[in-house]
Amino acid sequence: MGKIKVKNPIVELDGDEMARVMWKWIKEELIFPYLDIPIKYFDLGIQNRDATSDMVTLEAAKAIKEYKVGVKCATITPDQERVKEYNLKKAWKSPNATIRAYLDGTVFRKPIIVKNIPPYVKTWKKPVIIGRHAYGDIYNAFEYRVEEPAEIEVIVKNSEVKEFKVHTFDGKGIFMVLHNTEKSIRSFAKSCINYALSEKVDLWFSAKDTISKIYHGYFKEIFQEEVERRKEDFEKAGINYRYFLIDDAVAQILKSEGGMLWACMNYEGDVMSDMIAAGFGSLGLMTSVLVSPEGEYEFEAAHGTVRRHYYEYLKGNKTSTNPTASIFAWTGGIRKRGELDGTPEVVNFANKLEEATIKTIESGIMTKDLQPQAYPPVDRYYYTEDFIKAVKERLEFLLKE
Ligand code: NAP
Ligand code: MG
Repeated sequence: MGKIKVKNPIVELDGDEMARVMWKWIKEELIFPYLDIPIKYFDLGIQNRDATSDMVTLEAAKAIKEYKVGVKCATITPDQERVKEYNLKKAWKSPNATIRAYLDGTVFRKPIIVKNIPPYVKTWKKPVIIGRHAYGDIYNAFEYRVEEPAEIEVIVKNSEVKEFKVHTFDGKGIFMVLHNTEKSIRSFAKSCINYALSEKVDLWFSAKDTISKIYHGYFKEIFQEEVERRKEDFEKAGINYRYFLIDDAVAQILKSEGGMLWACMNYEGDVMSDMIAAGFGSLGLMTSVLVSPEGEYEFEAAHGTVRRHYYEYLKGNKTSTNPTASIFAWTGGIRKRGELDGTPEVVNFANKLEEATIKTIESGIMTKDLQPQAYPPVDRYYYTEDFIKAVKERLEFLLKE
């Protein structure tokens, strides 16, 4: 069987530790034997980031802008401990933060649904996808601790100067000043709309505009405007937009069967994404995609470099690390490439590889992280390499069909 030709490049961002080890196995066993892909490779491994003074991260971000599709392996975000461990020049910034800032993108987290790994919330049948606005609000706020009676005023200076009384303290207390920008909110809304259209899922946005009529109201207004501009695309895709009060949304999500993109303001997204991830079970089944307002995509696993397993691997021990989310980073990128290039055989390959992975787990062949959650229960777990081999066998079978 000849390889399937992929027309345009996929940008590959390599990473660190156990994630990098699995990433290589995935490429060698499940991708490169079947696809002829022009890869634009960037080594974001910590040693190369250090050697290039992190220029490689920016180069990779530029390449994603140019080619529209990237796939990324998990990378170390160094702290002082890592600076020592890898003898680094400094604690380089998080590559994800650099790339997200360059593309002005939004991160969406989507769980992979497997029949025999039931979510803790039994109504959930389809993924609940979370999009978190990652700028402003309490994350870029001014905070102050008042130690004695005080008057608080806000002064707005532009062509004129306006002063507003905020609060009079009779004793100790605290206050905070929040902000956000039209540009950032609009980019967020656009990325959410791009993602919902691309995945053909309903878009939910929630805030508390009944209480915060101006601040939260502004978010609601911008979402409404951006949705209005893409009205025809929504109709074509057969999806809907709904605005909810945040408390209503939380209750509706728990009662729903899933299958929507839930766009959240910064704090709600931070909290809810962890709740939803826990509700679906394993980190090994959580995928993540960065989408820019211009429609550039970078796919990755939501988990990190799985450091503890890597140290075992370095000792020569086999590990049972779950490669599923990393496989789906590749399939996500390959499918998107095929869609943008108009090459259905490439899209088909991505679908087949996902199907092979899911069916392998559903047949009871799974890694250690999933075993405690499996229903019906399974009596053993598989090492990563053996799991990948089982996926490969099934893939070969599906490709022959
Ligand atoms: P982690 O890689 O997310 O792993 C934490 C723990 O979760 C693992 O020790 C393992 O639990 C479990 N786990 C995560 N992914 C798994 C998988 N695929 N299969 C099986 N178990 C899995 O976090 P970490 O080890 O604390 O962080 C390591 C590095 O990752 C850090 O340097 C951090 O900066 C980086 N990081 C990168 C990204 C990214 O690039 N997107 C995201 C998060 C963290 P057990 O040990 O109990 O088996
Ligand atoms: Mg959080």
